Amino acid sequence: MAEFFKRLRCMVGKHSPSRRSVRYEGHLKIGPCKYCGRQLEKGGDGRWVTRHLTSSAGKPKVIEED
Ligand SMILES: [Zn+2]
Repeated sequence: MAEFFKRLRCMVGKHSPSRRSVRYEGHLKIGPCKYCGRQLEKGGDGRWVTRHLTSSAGKPKVIEED
């Protein structure tokens, strides 16, 4: 049951990184969430947020140049 509530936290965006897996990528501290496995990064305000690998996830943006 406890696991369920931890997962619920993930669903509302309150992830907890697996400290053992936390590493640095440049100036960013990153690591996977120990509950849902999503990649997280530590923001400037100290909160862990899911990584945004692309600016428009799931919807590739076509940029036209002329
Ligand atoms: Zn999570």
